[in-house]
Amino acid sequence: MQWEQLTAPDFAKAVTETGVCLLALGVLERHSSHLPLGTDMLNVHKLATQAAIEEPAVVFPPFYFGQIYEATCFPGAFTIKPTLLIDLLQSVLDEIGRNGFKKIILVNGHGGNHSLLGFLAQMSLWEQKPYTVYLFKDEFTPEESAAWKALLETEQHGHACECETSITMANYPELVKMEDVEAEPALPLGRARDVPGAYLGVSWYANYPEHYAGDARTANAEKGAALAKLERYALVRFIRAVKADRVMPALEAEFFNRKAQLRKD
Ligand SMILES: [Zn+2]
Repeated sequence: MQWEQLTAPDFAKAVTETGVCLLALGVLERHSSHLPLGTDMLNVHKLATQAAIEEPAVVFPPFYFGQIYEATCFPGAFTIKPTLLIDLLQSVLDEIGRNGFKKIILVNGHGGNHSLLGFLAQMSLWEQKPYTVYLFKDEFTPEESAAWKALLETEQHGHACECETSITMANYPELVKMEDVEAEPALPLGRARDVPGAYLGVSWYANYPEHYAGDARTANAEKGAALAKLERYALVRFIRAVKADRVMPALEAEFFNRKAQLRKD
């Protein structure tokens, strides 16, 4: 169920019946020259809405704000200042919670959001909330991992690559410009090699200055549909596990009780 498509009475019913809201996160950024700026959001929102059909949940409207400072040297990237981004994400979670959802699943469609969303999850211990936040990580079974690998023909992946291009071709064929795929794959340039192990904001750019990582030449829609199905299986399983979960909210309550006790002692 998509939040923006429900009537107010149907929304209230969905909150009671599912208790779970999915917040799919993507950004606007360059995807080499052949995929649309909104690729991450388009694909992750579709993943969330399709999974929420198999295991009922409410999906938040497309949300394009995230960490994408490393693409701001290209046309069409869009982001906001770091402190505002954190405040915005926390406010969105609070507002989802105010609407009655006790569980919120973050479904991330953008690699550059990993640290941000990990931090957002950690922030839940700063202040007690009437909801629990679960960050979804693709947990494939060994069979699914093997199936994923078997579908791919290239080794290097990362951005606008064989898998991402294939999934976009399956979801939005009209938005993919295969004629504009680079003639050569984008392999890491290794320009940070003199400081091994260092992590900087510019580290990704050091390897992939054209915002392309991998090789999209072997992408196709059939492959994309099969890959998207594997992602969907994993998310459906996750929604089921979150719905059934009683442990994490109880542990949060225990944690905050101890924290409050500390102030009294
Ligand atoms: Zn992407």
